[in-house]
This record gives sequence, C-alpha cells and structure tokens, in this order.
Amino acid sequence: MAETFDVVVIGSGPGGYVAAIKAAQLGLKTAIVEKDKRLGGTCTLVGCIPTKALLATAELMEKLKDAKEFGVDVKDFGLNFLQAYKRKEDVVAKNSAGIDFLMKKNKITVFKGHGRLAGKGKVEVSGDKKEVLDTKNIIIATGSVPRTLPGIEPDHKRILNSDSVLRLETQPKSMIVLGAGAVGMEFASVFDSFGTKATVVEMFPHLLPIEDEDCSVEIEKAYRKRKIDFLTDAKVEKVEKNDKGVKVTIKKGTETQVLEAETLLSAVGRSPVSNDLGLEKTGVKVDRGFIVVDNMFRTGEPNVFAIGDVITLGNGPHPALAHVASYEGVVTAEFIAGKNPQPVNYDRIPSATYCYPEVASVGLTEKKAKERGYDVKTGKFPFSASGKARIVGESWGFVKIVADKKYDEVLGVHLVGPHATELLAEACLGLRLETTVEEIEKTMHAHPTLSEAVLEAAHAAMGHTLHM
Ligand code: FAD
Repeated sequence: MAETFDVVVIGSGPGGYVAAIKAAQLGLKTAIVEKDKRLGGTCTLVGCIPTKALLATAELMEKLKDAKEFGVDVKDFGLNFLQAYKRKEDVVAKNSAGIDFLMKKNKITVFKGHGRLAGKGKVEVSGDKKEVLDTKNIIIATGSVPRTLPGIEPDHKRILNSDSVLRLETQPKSMIVLGAGAVGMEFASVFDSFGTKATVVEMFPHLLPIEDEDCSVEIEKAYRKRKIDFLTDAKVEKVEKNDKGVKVTIKKGTETQVLEAETLLSAVGRSPVSNDLGLEKTGVKVDRGFIVVDNMFRTGEPNVFAIGDVITLGNGPHPALAHVASYEGVVTAEFIAGKNPQPVNYDRIPSATYCYPEVASVGLTEKKAKERGYDVKTGKFPFSASGKARIVGESWGFVKIVADKKYDEVLGVHLVGPHATELLAEACLGLRLETTVEEIEKTMHAHPTLSEAVLEAAHAAMGHTLHM
C-alpha cells in the first residue's frame, strides 16, 4: 500500500523547505515536491544568495578603492567579471546542496517534478514519471517569479530581469535599472561598483520608497556621492531596442526625457506562482494570482495551507521576503502539529537592503507611527560621530529610533550605514520584547562597536546623546 504523508509541501524555497524541516522535526511524515532541478527556490538560486555573493565582490572593490588610505599599497586591481559570476554560482551550489543535506538529515522525502492538487488529500507529481502522493495536509509554497510590465518584456539580452541579469556573460557598460526597491537598488549598487554606469528610475518620489523617508533621503545622498544617477517620480513611457542597446522614454512631471544604455534591468516586483496547481476544483481562493489565507495560513480548502510569496492575507501587500516565508513555514508546521502557535506580527518584519551603504529597518516608520495615532518621539545618531565607523572608514548614515512618547515603547528602528543589516538584529529582538527606549539606553554596548550608534540613538530619543 502507498504510504500516506502527514504533510506534502509543494515548492522548496525558504518557505517550503523550512516548513518541511519544522514539520519533520515535530514528528510529521513529510515530503517536498520541487519542479526545479535544484532545491532552494528563488532565494537560494536567483535571489538572496547570488545577489549577496555579487555584493560581496562589489564591497571588496569599494574597500580596495580606499586601500591606500588604510596604508595598503595595492599595485593593480580590477574586476574579473566572469570569476565574480563563477564564485556567485559556487556559493549558490553550496547552499542548494546544503538544503539537499537538510532534507536527508530530517528524513524528508524529495519528489522532483511539478506538483498539483489532485483531489482531497492527493498531490500529483509530474516528473520523470507521474505519481500521486496521499497526504493529510498540503502546504503550497510555490513562490513568485519576476513581474513583467507590458511593453518591457525581457528578451534577456537588452532587457533583463532579476533572473537573467544573474546569467550575464559579459559586463554591460551601462544599465538602466527600473524600480528602486531592494532588488533594483542592490543591482544598481553592484554594477556601479563593477564600473557599469547605472541609472535608477523610480515612479515613487523616493528611492527605497517603503523605508522611513529619512533613510530614503540618506541613501539618495549616498548614491549621488557615488555618482549613481537616479530619477524619481518618473514613469517609463516607452522602451525601444536597437543594435546598441535600449532607449527609454521617461516622463517626469511635464518633462519628457530619453535615457540610453546598453541594457535595461526590469526590477518592478514579483508575480505569484499559483497557476497549474489544480486549485480550480478546490475551495482555495485566489485574488489576482495570490492565494488567500488566514492568520494560520489556511486556504479555503480544509487541510490545504499556503505560505510565502504566493499568499495574500487580504490586508495589503504581503512582504515578499525569505525570512517571512520561512517564519510562516514554521508557524504552519506548528499549527498542523497542533502546537497552537502565535500568529505572525507583520508590524515587526525586518527589512534589509544590501546596497552600499546598507539600509535596514524593523517596525513602524515615523510617518506610519503618526498615522496610527502615536504621539511620536525620535532619536537619531549619525555614524559620522561613531568611533568604530571612523575606524572602518565608513561614516555615512545613521540610526533612528521611533518611539511612543506615552509609554516609551520602541515602535521602529531604521538604519543606513555600515553593517546596518547585521545591526538590525538587536532592534528586532527589542521590538519582540516590547522594549522601551530607556531599556536600550540602560543596556551596556561594547566599545568600540557600530552597535553603540543604536545606544546613542536611544540616548538621543531620551533627549541627550553622550557622544555628540
Ligand atoms: P520561492 O523562493 O519563490 O520558491 C518557490 C519554489 O516553488 C521554487 O523552487 C519553484 O520552482 C517551486 N515551484 C513552483 N511551482 C511549483 C509546482 N507546481 N511544483 C513544484 N514546485 C514548484 N528576500 C530576503 O529576505 N532577503 C534578500 O536579500 C532577498 N534578496 C532577493 C534578491 C532577488 C534578486 C530576488 C528576486 C528576491 C530576493 N528576496 C530576498 C526575496 C526572496 O527570494 C523571496 O521572498 C523568497 O524566495 C520567497 O520564498 P518562497 O518559499 O515563498 O518561494
């Protein structure tokens, strides 16, 4: 008799594979279905991991530019584009193999092929052969793919998306990056460090438009200093291709501008993957491609759950982030195992953009806190006044704390600057523990560290910085 699984997960991205590990660790008989040759999904194969590997090369290039100032004579250095791309692929391969190992270690059965629902408690897998799995629960974690705008369809030569830019075989001399969200900003940063002339075009008034406005303004200053051109409040009217590259007509207010470059990178968001999943004959509801779920990730069909980039909770955009997908995977596995988990608090999602300088945040922006009716106080400390930032030679940016005046609770922490994405963890824990500004102020921080800037921002929110 065919075995019956407790859980079958469809999709092995950070949502799916983490859900599978957690389910297995909770004693559930678990399988995972993946249509790609390799495990890991967008994050591991064409997202978080390869982009950060390229950013590591870019960071090294930036450091080498300052080597002389640090007393290091570097005779000659330059980018070996193909080697940078090869190293990126090596990092990806190791991470994907790591997931294979984790599946084995946790005794999760891996099925390679396209998974779809095939009646109550059944998942059909179309791979080398067709098989039908029996299962008590299904978790859909099929993720997302790059969004395509009409008239800007990628040909993967002149017009690229975030997948094909990672397959380049030669370095373009110039690139127009459409979209100043995390993905667009990171690629603009990488290619500028590599020596490609990058120009960012954003339809909203600021770069990184969902961040606290102070952070957006700071990163704009930094990009100006780096000579990365950008146009905000700018809409693309037309994209034309020719032998040399692309010609992009842009409308900014009443003015029309034409930009030319060798390539255009479209980084305008992601589209959910919910087609061909056999959802039609089920109670699973789909809204503009996103699978509708409740706070325990239940779809409208009993025992069918969905997590990660493919979902909507029906209350505005769902953050398309790897750690969100993974967290939702853990909650779902715990729920299936009867562990009664707490729902995810979407006010405390960390956000990290690994451009140079880095931008990171958790919690409410100053504007959002005010909109929610809080009497807001803020504290800000610039890295230019931090000893450690001077030591490492990176003194742009700041730490900003947004807090509630009445109860002193920290509502949000926003950072731009060196290692901002690593410094964020203290703020995440702080928000989780509903910390007050005073508690951060009374927490001793090691000296000299960049984290002292968090401490000083707390001092600032209390009305008195020590080192400024
Ligand atoms: P995905 O990772 O998209 O995985 C879905 C998986 O399901 C895929 O492997 C797919 O092949 C498989 N699948 C789909 N349909 C089927 C089917 N029918 N049968 C079998 N398998 C199927 N997030 C961060 O948090 N930090 C970052 O630094 C970051 N950087 C990014 C950089 C880029 C360039 C991009 C594009 C994204 C980045 N993200 C980052 C976002 C992050 O990658 C996604 O939020 C995350 O991968 C979503 O995870 P998921 O499990 O929901 O889906």
